[in-house]
Amino acid sequence: MTTAPERALPATRPPLLDLAARLRGRLLLPGGDRFTTRTAALPLPPLAVVEAATAEDVVAAVRFAGRHGLELAVQATGLGATPCSESTLLVATAGLDECTVHEEGWARVGAGVRWQRVLDEAGAHGLAALAGSSPAAGVVGQTLGGGLGPVARTYGLASDRVRAFEVVTGDGVLRRVTPTEHPDLFWGLRGGRGALGVVTAVEFDLLAVDELYAGALEFDGADAATVLHRWASWSAGLPRQATTSIALLRSAGERVVAVRFAWVGDADAGAAVLAPLRECAVPLHDGVRVRPYADMGQIHRVSAPPGPVSEAQLLLDALPPATIEVLLAVAGPAAASPQLLVELRQLGGAIARFPERASAFSHRDGAFSLVAVGPADDGAAEHAAGLLAALAPWSSGRGLATFGREEHPGALARVYDPATLRRLAGLAAHYDPHRILAGARGLHG
Ligand SMILES: Cc1cc2nc3c(=O)[nH]c(=O)nc-3n(C[C@H](O)[C@H](O)[C@H](O)COP(=O)(O)OP(=O)(O)OC[C@H]3O[C@@H](n4cnc5c(N)ncnc54)[C@H](O)[C@@H]3O)c2cc1C
Repeated sequence: MTTAPERALPATRPPLLDLAARLRGRLLLPGGDRFTTRTAALPLPPLAVVEAATAEDVVAAVRFAGRHGLELAVQATGLGATPCSESTLLVATAGLDECTVHEEGWARVGAGVRWQRVLDEAGAHGLAALAGSSPAAGVVGQTLGGGLGPVARTYGLASDRVRAFEVVTGDGVLRRVTPTEHPDLFWGLRGGRGALGVVTAVEFDLLAVDELYAGALEFDGADAATVLHRWASWSAGLPRQATTSIALLRSAGERVVAVRFAWVGDADAGAAVLAPLRECAVPLHDGVRVRPYADMGQIHRVSAPPGPVSEAQLLLDALPPATIEVLLAVAGPAAASPQLLVELRQLGGAIARFPERASAFSHRDGAFSLVAVGPADDGAAEHAAGLLAALAPWSSGRGLATFGREEHPGALARVYDPATLRRLAGLAAHYDPHRILAGARGLHG
């Protein structure tokens, strides 16, 4: 993975014990068991970890980093990418675990909360939240990237429903950010990932939905060509009530193709819409049924692979039969593909109805999002690069912020349009004058 350069360790060792004395939470130092566990998945360990117990702990950490020339990174679940080095102070947000569901239809959630908790607590009131494919992901981390979930074509992105953020910006100030308070940050935090501050809490609207007709149809890899071609032509005519994706993956060692489908509304109508897919081959597993909304993790049925991964992504403008042939030839069941998952999500619907540039999430006009995930050490990155190159004729080379792990300027130019990128860079320079935040590395050039 290419990243922007790391910051050098300051010449004078920062007085970490002074910081520890100011915290309600704990400061973890190298050598301790807790430090080792927390940082095990990171390519390089940080200088120290602040386990934040309050927003004030985050303020203390950001100010300390600014005073002592350190970089500051954030980790909630560890499912995403956290750029770290020996000069990084890592803020762990798991302790910011407030989750309050208001029956009137909104929630307030701390930076350490995962989606499944919100789904369960909202579900108890007949309400729903726009979680992503894996409810184990962090609400805040995912929302900052945009948040594209299994019902996105009906309801849009998680970030489109945000009412307010509380964020510690790189200048060490805790701010409440809404459409009218710091509207520039409100724009930039929705899609700008971790570039503009450490979010301590988020408030967002919930939906009055308690059930979905949803799940996955899994087919044998031998049927991949039939199913993929049918999915491509079938998805072209889907109404906004339907959100779908298709994935080439391995399940219990076997190569399968999984069609994911979520339908909001009458189940019989949803079944009629899905029928052409159900009938195109005999599914190994048919999990599409009426289910509580809070079970939405059963639609994609994905979890993070163990160990470091390679991730590649591309937005496709169209999906003519030739793209399916390329996909099958490079990553299909008969190809020697190292990828664990190659997934196509249909975009459009409510995703595209939110005005472009109304937030920092770019490229709402994309037709399909392709993501390939493989083990980092198995040639998967090179293979994915080959797949993306083969699909280049049907793409303008763009990607989505929510799936991009890389922070270098070239990668940012793919996931943001030029005006958005300039505006994000301006905000980062304004709110983080000492360039403390690791999440803004690529924006500073
Ligand atoms: C199995 C899997 C499925 C996924 N499915 C989807 C999906 O369906 N839709 C989708 O949109 N995305 C999806 N993603 C991408 C995911 O949303 C991002 O990786 C996201 O960054 C994860 O956030 P986290 O807090 O869980 O991870 P972490 O590793 O804890 O954090 C990752 C990064 O998020 C930022 N961040 C986290 N918390 C904060 C904070 N409080 N303040 C500022 N920055 C913060 C930081 O830059 C941090 O380095 C998926 C990822 C995985 C591994």
